[in-house]
Amino acid sequence: MSTPSVLAPRPYNFSAGPAVLPEEVLHTAAAEMLDWHGSGMGVMEMSHRGPEFIAIYEKAVRDLRTLLAVPEHFKILFMQGGGLGENAFVPLNLSRGGVVDVVVTGGWSQKSLKEAAKYATARCAASGEAGGFTAIPDPVTWQISPDAAYLHICSNETIHGVEFHELPDLAALGADIPLVIDCSSHIASRPIDWRRVGLAFAGAQKNLGPSGLTIVIVREDLIGHALPICPSAFDYATVAKNDSMYNTPPTWGIYVAGLVFDWVLRQQEGDLTGLAAIEARNIRKAGKLYDFLDASSFYRCPVQPAARSRMNAPFFLADESRNADFLAGAKARGLLQLKGHRSVGGMRASLYNAMPEAGVDALIAYLRDFEQTSA
Ligand SMILES: *Cc1c(COP(=O)(O)O)cnc(C)c1O
Repeated sequence: MSTPSVLAPRPYNFSAGPAVLPEEVLHTAAAEMLDWHGSGMGVMEMSHRGPEFIAIYEKAVRDLRTLLAVPEHFKILFMQGGGLGENAFVPLNLSRGGVVDVVVTGGWSQKSLKEAAKYATARCAASGEAGGFTAIPDPVTWQISPDAAYLHICSNETIHGVEFHELPDLAALGADIPLVIDCSSHIASRPIDWRRVGLAFAGAQKNLGPSGLTIVIVREDLIGHALPICPSAFDYATVAKNDSMYNTPPTWGIYVAGLVFDWVLRQQEGDLTGLAAIEARNIRKAGKLYDFLDASSFYRCPVQPAARSRMNAPFFLADESRNADFLAGAKARGLLQLKGHRSVGGMRASLYNAMPEAGVDALIAYLRDFEQTSA
């Protein structure tokens, strides 16, 4: 499947999203661009109802189910509208117009709370804002509404670099309500404990593929309760009944994400394969970077160690007047898109699945050299 590269090595791309894709996947998509498997058509030119695309779609669903060990009583939906769209579609489908709880741990869950308030009575069950979103409030302190239809968390805050390393067990907290997770920026980087989850959604453009595809994985009993004002194309019951083809699905996104699922399933690390291999690599990649940042007084990582994201590592130079020099020097070395989000400032290195370990090593070497030449 993979085509050997005849090009110069590509730079390392630390973008938070749209983000780096496995080089092998890009080669395959390029090679198949004009003629997918002898069909005489590129994927972008095919009917979504034809046998060629149906085969692509079915393999993608099957591989994602295998990859994330999604139980049979969950539906996998391929939608559009992104993570921000789901901030509306989740309350439209699940709230029944009642109360919903949101735990605010950073910029993305803050947006979710605000959007849910348009369609439901949205309550903030806990917030990390007072601490600058550098930690996750202990679940035992959450004020969960007894009548909430569900509780929403962002399981990896892409901007603030805060990640849940264990999903909350709401039943054990005395609240037997569905947990909704926005896992846009760490889906397929680690396993998901489906016993604790009612619905998971993710935009594809962080860790899975191009923008335009949104993945929703939802427990079957939560489907079929949409508010009457919910647009038909975003009613999970309509989408599920039509195998994600009520309206034209994002065919190109499904195809490329399918290549990525296949790539993840084939990864190996020692005795580990697939998601376990990817997770082991992700732990090692993030660990190296945080260890280096912690050992240096030239750089500073704001997030508390227990909540640090494996995918998105924000950091600051002690001397912020050097930021522009730092970014220019990084670019000259082929280390791209390290600038932090405008709301946080500083730097951010995103280490998604497709970032090779050699890219992290190159980043650390640059961090070391920049510090030395700045002394
Ligand atoms: C990027 C991102 C979003 C927004 O995705 P869009 O596709 O731009 O709507 C939402 N949540 C998280 C966690 C994200 O990383």
